Amino acid sequence: MDATTEAPLLILFIALLSCVGCLSWCVMSWLVRICPLASRHFALSNLLIFIGTFLIYIRIEPPTFWYWFSSNASMLVGFYFIYTGLLHLFKLSWSTRRARIILTLALIILFFSSHNTNNAWLVGIVFSIVASSLFAYAAWANFRGIRQEFDAVAAGSVSCPFALVSLFFLIRIAFIIQEQSAANAYVSIKHPDSLLQLWFLVVLTVVINLSLVGNAFARLVSKIRSLADRDSLTGLWTRRIIDQQLLNQARICERHHSVFSILLIDLDYFKKINDKYGHQIGDQALVHASNCFKDALRDVDWLARYGGEEFLALLPDTGQPEAVTIAERLRQQLSAQPFTEAAELQLTASIGIASFQAGDHIDQLIASADQALYQAKARGRNQVSYLAGNDKVFAID
Ligand code: GH3
Ligand code: MG
Ligand code: MG
Repeated sequence: MDATTEAPLLILFIALLSCVGCLSWCVMSWLVRICPLASRHFALSNLLIFIGTFLIYIRIEPPTFWYWFSSNASMLVGFYFIYTGLLHLFKLSWSTRRARIILTLALIILFFSSHNTNNAWLVGIVFSIVASSLFAYAAWANFRGIRQEFDAVAAGSVSCPFALVSLFFLIRIAFIIQEQSAANAYVSIKHPDSLLQLWFLVVLTVVINLSLVGNAFARLVSKIRSLADRDSLTGLWTRRIIDQQLLNQARICERHHSVFSILLIDLDYFKKINDKYGHQIGDQALVHASNCFKDALRDVDWLARYGGEEFLALLPDTGQPEAVTIAERLRQQLSAQPFTEAAELQLTASIGIASFQAGDHIDQLIASADQALYQAKARGRNQVSYLAGNDKVFAID
């Protein structure tokens, strides 16, 4: 098949791919409602790429100003929407000002140079510079977005297609500058040089759409994971996660003969707060308390909502004396920080401490902390307590 027949077929194929891409993203946005706003941007981007390639397909030789300008403009705006879609997908609050300025300047230059096919090299260079920049932005946004939840290797590999497209357009600039006749390929789709680019556009449309679908699902998975792992009111770890972490820590301690401690924290007279101020203020008080505890803990510590108004802090590599200091800090921080939603409301907490050493049992650890907490409550609340050697809970089978 020669270039004269292959090129139009390829263009039609690209148009078809982007059309299918557009419809799929519409389904994602309006019917399945997966990342609706981002999906809408991706649908729009596919639609514009579809329009761009379709205009290339139907344009006559030599191309008239409008066909030439509008197909390029449509493609570039389509690339821009890939970038903005990624920003929405990953909730990145970046300014798109620079990308918009680059795009607008390019559209102005293209508008004034597309009337003359002698300017093909300039049009080719401007188009490539902007496309390369937009895909570089998209690659970076994609990397940062995936990096929020996954490691750098995963983020890098998923962002690769965008970076490669950006690189392709950079190489294309060098190619046009070096061999100006190549620019004719952008004017005449029957030129043999255009086939390589058209094949590239086929791969681009498929790979970029696959990456975008992958990203949307990665986002969905992390959302589901966060719903399962995080408490919906306070954003703290759930009991399921802290139970897993306790087992992990126990294993580490057994292996390295190290220690860790837990704090079982229970808010004092919380029922009264609900009764007096209502459940909603009660909820806000819980969030306030959890924020106080989070601030008072170290980065390495784990904090979970263990029950209604009960929290569990896991302090890795921490023996009992240090755990007492940390617990005191938590207790004082809570009682010192005013809860502004109800001025006269004074929140306090009682804290039971227990430490784990090699040979101990996790259930025994929780029971010790619970008993220490009970002791703190019995001694008048708003205090920290731990069991002395003789009182420790031993026999649990
Ligand atoms: P104590 O000092 O002995 O711990 O007294 P208390 O009132 O805190 O303990 P109690 O166990 O009697 O009451 C716990 C209260 O916590 C009862 C329940 O309504 C409230 N609670 C549990 N979960 C939530 C929640 O998610 N939101 C709100 N607002 N209240 C909750
Ligand atoms: Mg309680
Ligand atoms: Mg309580």
